[in-house]
Amino acid sequence: MSELINGARRLLGMTHAMPDAKPDGTPFEVILTPEDWKSRLNAQEYHVLREGGTERAYTGEYTDTETEGVYSCRACDHELFRSNEKFHSHCGWPSFFAPLAGDSVMYIEDTTMGMKRVEVRCANCGSHLGHVFEGEGYGTPTDQRYCINSVSLTLTPVEGATS
Ligand SMILES: [Zn+2]
Repeated sequence: MSELINGARRLLGMTHAMPDAKPDGTPFEVILTPEDWKSRLNAQEYHVLREGGTERAYTGEYTDTETEGVYSCRACDHELFRSNEKFHSHCGWPSFFAPLAGDSVMYIEDTTMGMKRVEVRCANCGSHLGHVFEGEGYGTPTDQRYCINSVSLTLTPVEGATS
């Protein structure tokens, strides 16, 4: 955990605020006003993606999904995760042990809720996805758990995939 938290702190030096640019300081590819986001997203999607909310455990449509495919940001369609790195964590949310690529997501230190956590956001538009935890002993290749809200994602199945 410390490496991720230190990385988040080093990159951003901020705490749980809506970022206004990528970690390297360049603007997001997608920048919209709150009104424009609200016209694109339903109320729950807006709350989670743009206000950092969390869907209730075990209610998301992708929690147990095993369909082969790519998960994209529901706000901007940026490719974020693959089914190859998805695993059953039994935590109530879709879980991945790695993002699709290192620069698919960005990290922010989150000290809300009385915990020190690492928040995961879309690196393309800055929308909230979930949190990443490590060292929990899940036995995955990275020992990390990207705990992601289903409403933050859109699954595009590969051709011929069965669910
Ligand atoms: Zn996005």
